[in-house]
Amino acid sequence: MNWSDRIAPSVKAIPPSGIRRFFDIAAEMKGVISLGVGEPDFITPWHIRESCIHGLHRGYTSYTSNYGLLELREEITKSLHKDYQVTYDPRQEVLVTVGVSEGLDLAMRALLGPGDEVLVPEPCYVSYKSCVALAGGTPITIPTKVENEFRITAEQLEEYVTPRTKILLIGYPNNPTGAIMSREDLEGIAAFALKHDLIVISDEIYAKLTYDGTHTCFSSLPGMRDRTIVLNGFSKAYAMTGWRIGYAVSNVEFIAAMTKIHQYTMLCTPITAQIAAIEALKSGGKNVEHMVSEYNYRRRLIFNGFCQMGLDCFEPKGAFYIFPSIKKTGLTSLEFAEQLLMTEKVALVPGDAFGESGEGFVRCSYATSTKNITEALERIGRFIESIKK
Ligand code: PLP
Repeated sequence: MNWSDRIAPSVKAIPPSGIRRFFDIAAEMKGVISLGVGEPDFITPWHIRESCIHGLHRGYTSYTSNYGLLELREEITKSLHKDYQVTYDPRQEVLVTVGVSEGLDLAMRALLGPGDEVLVPEPCYVSYKSCVALAGGTPITIPTKVENEFRITAEQLEEYVTPRTKILLIGYPNNPTGAIMSREDLEGIAAFALKHDLIVISDEIYAKLTYDGTHTCFSSLPGMRDRTIVLNGFSKAYAMTGWRIGYAVSNVEFIAAMTKIHQYTMLCTPITAQIAAIEALKSGGKNVEHMVSEYNYRRRLIFNGFCQMGLDCFEPKGAFYIFPSIKKTGLTSLEFAEQLLMTEKVALVPGDAFGESGEGFVRCSYATSTKNITEALERIGRFIESIKK
């Protein structure tokens, strides 16, 4: 029996994640230094873990409202107001999701119909195009360029917009490039969205991890609140990847539509994670500050290291990734990553895992110790010297 014939064509059509495939190989090897995984190397701060333990002691083990605990939704709206002066109704305009991942999937499924196009600047997070395709939409990729610091402009978007374009999906600070967009940059994008009556989905999961410049929440721009779905979460800023919690904020109708799907598929986000997230928002600020200053130190270390090797490298401004060009080596991204892994045992991600426009680059995560970064830089330097010969 060929069971693969029974798999839905929409699922067959999407590629497996380029990151996972590579790391399965690395996991089998000994002595590998990984700059691959996009995950904080910190453990969730103790007071956040403790709040969850207290919750369990008090017997909080039930389902919650589909939207999430009201107390958490209130903390989310308070923090958005404090950070970006944007206002949401915690009762109707916030949905607590199983990570930004679920928020992304829900937003696409709630809004897209057959033939709808979604503008997706590239290189981009691996899930974006697949989520669009799984929801029945068509991703239209827009290459961003290192010469423009991997930012998008309205002029560039104009080349790709059609009468079928429904959504613009952006993610800044960016994974994999570490690019950010200034308020002025985003204002240009907002004017473009208005002109073409587009919905903007803004993945702001790295909002708090910004080193150079400040983050602007897209929905805080004039006229953007209701036409934007902001996705955010706790995985990166609070080192809570395994808790699986995030949120979406938008207008009442969009949130209700997303909640309709969520109530049948997830029912709710685990109550344990919701309790921990309340504590994170109430008292996690100092922990975030500490982690950001640590990432910032490592960012400089790794950026200087790549520059000293003679690689062309954009200085990342946010998130915890660096995306050096390896074009000078004459290898493709995949060849570079595979040969580096086999000879020097350093794992990183070939840039084309983030779309065709990532070819010629590799992604390194600096969410790992300075010791690992220093050792990895030494090994990469040796590898580059060896291929020159
Ligand atoms: N969005 C981006 C840009 C990411 O890099 C990631 C994880 O790497 C996610 C979303 C997924 O986040 P979550 O853990 O909240 O599902």
